[in-house]
Amino acid sequence: MHILVTNDDGVQAPGLLALANALDGLGKITILAPDRNWTASGHVKTLERPLRVRSVTLADGRPALTTDGAPADCVALALLGVIPEPIDLIVSGINNGENIGQDLTYSGTVTAAMEAVIAGLPGIAVSQQRPPGNGAEIDFTTAAAAARQVVERFLRYGIPPGVLLNVNVPYLPDGKPHGIQITRQGQRIYRDALVKRLDPRDRPYYWIGGEAPTGVPEPGTDYGALAEGYISVSPIQLDMTAYPVLETLRTWEWE
Ligand code: MN
Repeated sequence: MHILVTNDDGVQAPGLLALANALDGLGKITILAPDRNWTASGHVKTLERPLRVRSVTLADGRPALTTDGAPADCVALALLGVIPEPIDLIVSGINNGENIGQDLTYSGTVTAAMEAVIAGLPGIAVSQQRPPGNGAEIDFTTAAAAARQVVERFLRYGIPPGVLLNVNVPYLPDGKPHGIQITRQGQRIYRDALVKRLDPRDRPYYWIGGEAPTGVPEPGTDYGALAEGYISVSPIQLDMTAYPVLETLRTWEWE
């Protein structure tokens, strides 16, 4: 078993090291991750500029590879030959912040797992819910154990082709999660607000800010599981077709 570990927070992010260390012993671990933070960059494939890959050392001395490409580029580079040995599984994370509901369309963490699925390999994305407030320290211990459990289950049971697993771990100030819930993708409620300011030359600039998003706490969803203090594991597929609307569109009296 050869596991590629990547992320979107950058190769030196503590969540990546926690993930790699948690998976030790389950197979050979190779790390190829971005050299900068690609949070909320979406599913990027870099086609218009060259990509460099170089060796780095992580905080505990662990070797890794890094690139100036995006998370999905890391997966593509690895699978297309930068990593000569065949890869069996891609695990992305542990992200600093949960990726639930419509976050999946923004998340670099999840798009790395999507890129794996597109290439015909299994992908697992792991994210840790943030504590309230900016700049708070994140403890990845629980999420690292959850990631290991999910990968162990993957090794035992497998994942069907075309499916990635999206794992989210709740932030609980005291105590551990109550367990694991298998969930579907839920609904985010974004509270974005536009900040308009003037630069030193009196030209306006804009910053998308606002309060942290919430979500619809519906049982059985990713957001619902986190709200109840459970780890959420969602099987995600890339077919975004709105099947109930297929027949409706066919009745539109096309020429
Ligand atoms: Mn991130």
